Amino acid sequence: MLASKFHLNTLKEAPTEAEIVSHQLMTRAGMIRKHAGGIYTYMPLGLKIMRKVEAIVREEMNKAGAIELLMPVVQPAELWMESGRWEQYGPELLRIKDRHQRDFVLQPTSEEVITDIARNEIHSYRQLPVNFYHIQTKFRDERRPRFGLMRGREFTMKDAYSFDRDEAGALASYDIMYNAYMRIFKRLGLTFRAVAADTGSIGGSRSHEFQVIADTGEDLIVYNPDSDYAANIELAEAPCLIEKRAEPTQESQEVETPNANKCELVAQQLGVSLDKTVKSVVFVTTPEEGPAQVWLLMVRGDHEINEIKVSKLPAFKHGFRLATEEEILEYFGSEPGYLGPLNTAKPVNIIADTTVANMSDFICGANKAPYHITGINWGRDLPEPEVADLRNVVAGDPAIGEPGTLAIQRGIEVGHVFFLGDKYSSELKATFLNENGKPETLQMGCYGIGISRITAAAIEQNHDEKGIIWPIAMAPFEVVICPVGWGKSEAIRNEATALYETLKQNNIDVILDDRDTRPGVMFSEWELIGVPIRVTIGDRGLKDGIIEVQERSKAEAVKVPVAEVNAYVL
Ligand code: ATP
Ligand code: MG
Ligand code: MG
Ligand code: MG
Repeated sequence: MLASKFHLNTLKEAPTEAEIVSHQLMTRAGMIRKHAGGIYTYMPLGLKIMRKVEAIVREEMNKAGAIELLMPVVQPAELWMESGRWEQYGPELLRIKDRHQRDFVLQPTSEEVITDIARNEIHSYRQLPVNFYHIQTKFRDERRPRFGLMRGREFTMKDAYSFDRDEAGALASYDIMYNAYMRIFKRLGLTFRAVAADTGSIGGSRSHEFQVIADTGEDLIVYNPDSDYAANIELAEAPCLIEKRAEPTQESQEVETPNANKCELVAQQLGVSLDKTVKSVVFVTTPEEGPAQVWLLMVRGDHEINEIKVSKLPAFKHGFRLATEEEILEYFGSEPGYLGPLNTAKPVNIIADTTVANMSDFICGANKAPYHITGINWGRDLPEPEVADLRNVVAGDPAIGEPGTLAIQRGIEVGHVFFLGDKYSSELKATFLNENGKPETLQMGCYGIGISRITAAAIEQNHDEKGIIWPIAMAPFEVVICPVGWGKSEAIRNEATALYETLKQNNIDVILDDRDTRPGVMFSEWELIGVPIRVTIGDRGLKDGIIEVQERSKAEAVKVPVAEVNAYVL
């Protein structure tokens, strides 16, 4: 590639809204351009990086026996109604209507469609196991789309879905994907860790996230340096840290054993009818001056804080007053009806609760029981716990480690493997016939990789004050040739062009900067873009038969004799 024939457009300043370094650098380097919150064009340079990530993912998926297809972005609501996710998903699911007023969704993942495919295509145990994947645009109407490609609304994901005849088979398929993911992230040149992750409302024991280690990551990982134990902190057992902030008030002390009956009583007093389809109901008040405010929280899963519904209560008596929408927003960081992570940065008191064992724990840490918060990003959704507290959290479990031996790291979730069992196949009635001609339900797993997020995560992990330092496997170009004096010197043009041709013939992804810009400007541009190897060809060096090779990750350049440059770079 000749730089004059490619589209490069670097910027001096990052947009003020760009809070994290990958967002700043990708914008400055001209890799992405924003159109709306969480919606970007991948510019030629950015797309090149994405394609390299995709190629590695595709290669390893194929090697692991997965089969590529391509499912639609726009999916009919009927399938989502069948699975129950039409009701359950909440506002992250973008719902649209066609001209006939029929409902559709823009897919955030494709469990429904692939299960529909499976029930129509898979008839016999002889067709199993099978694993289908696609690399496709996803849409999630994230509450706070920020951070560039890290948390987009439209983004690119590889998602795979395995089908097996029984649980043992599904777990074997899971292991194959787990191992493929290990290879993928190694090949990408990233420092990462596979950690046990929450299985949420699906249950079961098997779920792992692949976390790219970076100080700026949203997730906290706890691991034992001397063993294999590593978990997302949302899974680790810990005394509830929120408890410290929740000063008990008289009101909450009055309520000693909140229970279902009390809940109904409160509901009666407040004149609200409880939705019987929800598993847990919690009434909370806030210990602030003035008349108490009450919110009704309804939870659809057992532990899914993701699925808490914050409702505005109708008018009621007993000295309580109606919370306004603004108050709900301010207090919980959630709109009424919002199904998303609950912001409990401020204290709440539970006045009645149907499921004391879990709900009260994670709302205000009433007991010192283990807690389990799904989908929380520390620092974003909740105040960050203190590392000193976390070190001691998992005391006494030999599988995990002695108190105080654990280490904490920040990570960016770039992949997630999940054993699903029959969650979707039973809802959508996806069966196959066994050897005896009897129908059995398919056992599933799902496996996601955030292709576009990987590019941002790589930058969070690998950058300096000058710009990006790409791992070679996903660099937009592996080598840049920077001739100093391209316009002036034929010797330089010849030398640069000869090297360029040789590298191309050897399948090196090389760009020759033939734009004849000033050396300082040219160098800082390529440092910003982050090309791993820069070869500088100048008159002075050429006279001594020397070309300079600068690795982006190293402080010092190396002077290489002209005749040896090819071999050195290759
Ligand atoms: P997060 O906890 O960051 O919201 P998630 O657990 O909701 O992610 P999954 O449903 O597990 O995400 O999706 C699989 C992968 O897709 C994630 O591991 C991540 O790499 C990527 N991903 C998820 N949401 C986004 C997003 N908004 N923008 C970019 N990539 C995303
Ligand atoms: Mg997550
Ligand atoms: Mg999410
Ligand atoms: Mg996940």
